[in-house]
Amino acid sequence: MQYISTRGKVEPRGFIDTVLMGLADDGGLMVPDVIPSVSSATLEEWRNLSFQELFLKIFSYYTNGEIPDGDLKEMVERSYGTFRHPEVTPLKEINDSLYILELFHGPTFAFKDVALQFMGELYSYISRVRGEIIHILGATSGDTGAAAIAGVRGKEGIKICILHPHNKVSKVQELQMTTVDDANVLNLSVQGNFDDCQKVIKELFADLEFKSKYHLRAINSINFVRILAQTVYYFYAVLKLPQAAQGKTVNISVPSGNFGNIFSGYLAKKMGLPIGKLIIATNENNILERFVKTGEYKPGDFKSTHSPSMDIQVASNFERYLYYLTGEDSAAVNGYMSKLAGEGAIKVDGQLLEQVQTDFAALGVKNDECLNIIGKYKSEAGYLLDPHTACGVAAYEAHNGPGEVCITFATAHPAKFDEAISLLKIAQEFPPQIAGLAALPQHMTVVEHDKAEITRQLEEFYI
Ligand SMILES: *Cc1c(COP(=O)(O)O)cnc(C)c1O
Repeated sequence: MQYISTRGKVEPRGFIDTVLMGLADDGGLMVPDVIPSVSSATLEEWRNLSFQELFLKIFSYYTNGEIPDGDLKEMVERSYGTFRHPEVTPLKEINDSLYILELFHGPTFAFKDVALQFMGELYSYISRVRGEIIHILGATSGDTGAAAIAGVRGKEGIKICILHPHNKVSKVQELQMTTVDDANVLNLSVQGNFDDCQKVIKELFADLEFKSKYHLRAINSINFVRILAQTVYYFYAVLKLPQAAQGKTVNISVPSGNFGNIFSGYLAKKMGLPIGKLIIATNENNILERFVKTGEYKPGDFKSTHSPSMDIQVASNFERYLYYLTGEDSAAVNGYMSKLAGEGAIKVDGQLLEQVQTDFAALGVKNDECLNIIGKYKSEAGYLLDPHTACGVAAYEAHNGPGEVCITFATAHPAKFDEAISLLKIAQEFPPQIAGLAALPQHMTVVEHDKAEITRQLEEFYI
């Protein structure tokens, strides 16, 4: 298998080169040239596999023979050996139509660990076999930075610098990033907001000379390997449903921001996994809900909500979906993306909009509704939802049909977002890994929102 760009102007690449490229050189996103299909007989054979075994099966379609089986197996064992649950992503039954797939048993208590623990191992492997220096640079509104740092801390051949907006990430998120004391980690706390951080990063990556001089690599979800690692738990969840649920239509509700997690579901479905509706759950930043309902994709005003990891206006993986929606037509994708850049909005209608509404359902959950759902499931089912997962459950309630089953993804542990939980006067127990953070010394450098100053810090760190 080879990988190509959604904008059609990059020569086909292998798997490792695709991982290293991150954003495609033509500004597009990398996708496989052909999506492999998995037959229902094969799916049946996979039913009793562990998460790790399933991971190896799925990756074997995509790695282009570039990573020997034994090496991949070792990386996968190490990546998921850090999870606190033996099943890695266990499926919990809430009632006969709702199952929750817990994706928060990794080191930083959010779903991003699933992909980023593996990506840390993979970058380290690539550094070893290719003799590549890997310098990771990224901006975070909280969870990505913590999970990326946890994925590469202490690893040979890799340094990581993460920018976060000063005092604008949750306390637990800040501590998860800044209490790491490995020498290969630099936290820059930027006086500004997330968009300011993101803008500097984009400028630095666009400076191709700087990018290659300092060997800069990305960790955001535009990287195809993150998408692929996330498809594994879609398969795992559907295959682990109990007998009573099998044979029914299975919908999956996904708390969404950058469209990364849900795009993994779209890929799994295209590979042949029987999924009914993919339900996009968002908060008051509801660009994706508006797109599914009206066909218009138009970033609106940023709102701060109880689910900050979904406070996103521009869903960076959306371009991958557009590529498939247009029938893999990169000329059409180029047209849409330049229209979006120039006019700030795009619109699909007619058959395309019908297709969108066949692929997805969507709900933007208001702040009050999010809290109501947390309270309701705590008292009625004895299950404490984090505010992101609560949006997913609200979307399940809105869109799951009679006789259907829905798997909702729990993307974070509630202890990570106690700011929202405490508004409901629900007292929760903190896992020791979170409770213990406050006592640890923090390591971060506070910098002005100034590209020159940030560049100087990077040059010093990466030398
Ligand atoms: C990142 C994140 C999301 C959104 O995931 P996307 O892949 O950006 O759509 C949802 N919930 C939590 C807890 C997250 O950290």
